[in-house]
Amino acid sequence: MNYDLIVIGAGPAGYAAAIRAAQLGMKVACMDDWIGSDGAPALGGTCLNVGCIPSKVLLEVSQTYSNLSTLYPGWGIAARDVALDIAAMMAHKQRIVTRMTQGIAALFRANGVHSLCGRGRLIANRAVEFTPRNASADQSFDQKPQIFHAEHVILAAGSKPVELAVAPLHENLIVDSSGALAFDAVPARLGVIGGGVIGLELGSVWRRLGAQVVVLEAQKDFLSACDRQIAREALRQFRAEGLDIRLGARVTHSAVKQGKVELGYQDDDGSEHVEMFDRLIVAVGREPSSDGLCVREAGLLIDEWGFVHVDAYCLSSVPGVYAVGDLVRGPMLAHKGAQEGVMVVERIAGQNARVNYDTIPSIIYTQPEIASVGATEQAIEAEGIAYQVGVFPFAANARAHAQGDASGFVKVIADAATDRVLGVHMIGPGSSELIASAVLAMEFGASSEDISLTMFAHPTLSEALHEAALAVQGHALHVAKAKK
Ligand code: FAD
Ligand code: NAD
Repeated sequence: MNYDLIVIGAGPAGYAAAIRAAQLGMKVACMDDWIGSDGAPALGGTCLNVGCIPSKVLLEVSQTYSNLSTLYPGWGIAARDVALDIAAMMAHKQRIVTRMTQGIAALFRANGVHSLCGRGRLIANRAVEFTPRNASADQSFDQKPQIFHAEHVILAAGSKPVELAVAPLHENLIVDSSGALAFDAVPARLGVIGGGVIGLELGSVWRRLGAQVVVLEAQKDFLSACDRQIAREALRQFRAEGLDIRLGARVTHSAVKQGKVELGYQDDDGSEHVEMFDRLIVAVGREPSSDGLCVREAGLLIDEWGFVHVDAYCLSSVPGVYAVGDLVRGPMLAHKGAQEGVMVVERIAGQNARVNYDTIPSIIYTQPEIASVGATEQAIEAEGIAYQVGVFPFAANARAHAQGDASGFVKVIADAATDRVLGVHMIGPGSSELIASAVLAMEFGASSEDISLTMFAHPTLSEALHEAALAVQGHALHVAKAKK
């Protein structure tokens, strides 16, 4: 069978590429080997099945549950006999996942993308071996492989959790992020190895539902990729919220004993500690799923960490073969992968598409939410660029108070010479939505003055971004001491 384009992987990077290619008139096949919990093929990859979507459902549910006891009584809403039904919560999560994955299947049908359930492997220039997967009880790959040819191939195989030799996964006791999205009960005491995005989001879910949560992070710096001012505030607030975050903790051993997990770790000062947990989540990063994705003869360059080597336009070392998403360099984020997939097919179609890697938004969906785009203050300083900073606290934003959370702040960093916005970082209510305005501003090369001259509706959280930009200019309105 011949196609214009074969896509291997139907996560956000692969499915976006396949749909856009079909829109552009290409004959497209998309191969994906994911089988959902109901035994049927499920498109959408990690993001829809065990990543972005289910984690956000549980964050939403657990925040509502927590609000019932912590926030709403102060608003005059007293809820009695509040009960947690974990099975119903998980069924709710699964319904949303199924709705989303079936939505991708419907989009494939509507656009004429050939959806193939099974494993793809690049065997030569633009030739792909496809092994169908039985979507039956055994879910095996025992059918005869078929060979397909295409003008172009996009590899979008995504990533998988990094395993830790000192804490191997163990049934439902020591789990990765997928296991942590499917606990059947709230663990009384939950350990989390890794204080990164997954550790914080899933640690927050189970803490809000009643678990005592200990997060063990190897680095001394908390959220080392974040702006330092934001990371300091985040650590303070997470600890105040009840997450027991221990930095500089090096895990030395683990053992399952009588249905519990014993975990040993060493402090920064060398002292040894042993903790007992009911469940343990290992969340120490993800690695590309490039194993077995191509035969050696295909000539695909894969680096020592397993990332497929690509140029700025996601072209691999093999002509006509591209790689996108978690499989290649850059942050492992769904929107980054989707944008790359769309860029590749638009360039194949002769358009001048590109991805602006300087304006990829990054969000941690905790309480408080953390969001950023562009460079951090420490990175700008390290480059020796003269800059100005404007910070505005949500404590001076009326809408934040109305919503019951006025913690955190918005920070805008601008070039001192040109006033061009170099980075925007925020922690506090609504940050996950608010950051889009900052991305848009930076994409259009805005100065902090451009933002400060823009009208923002009142009363909205977005006024905090406006005020932070005014603060760069030295005349924020709702602060006691403005500079100019
Ligand atoms: P994937 O989504 O991993 O999809 C790859 C697909 O290819 C999979 O279906 C896989 O089975 C299939 N595949 C692999 N090899 C083959 C093969 N040889 N043949 C056929 N099929 C194959 N990112 C965000 O931006 N926002 C979030 O809120 C967010 N939350 C997350 C929460 C969790 C718990 C996790 C684990 C991740 C989260 N991420 C989030 C990261 C996000 O899920 C990934 O960045 C994104 O899914 C990557 O997309 P992708 O298309 O590159 O790969
Ligand atoms: P991460 O890189 O965000 O965090 C991993 C953390 O584990 C790091 O802080 C690291 O220092 C720590 N660590 C590593 N080895 C350790 C060890 N032996 N002991 C203790 N700590 C150790 O990775 P993650 O949280 O696993 O997430 C994986 C990817 O998924 C990330 O790249 C992220 O972008 C993506 N993701 C994104 C979102 C989102 O956008 N909201 C949510 C979840 C996941």
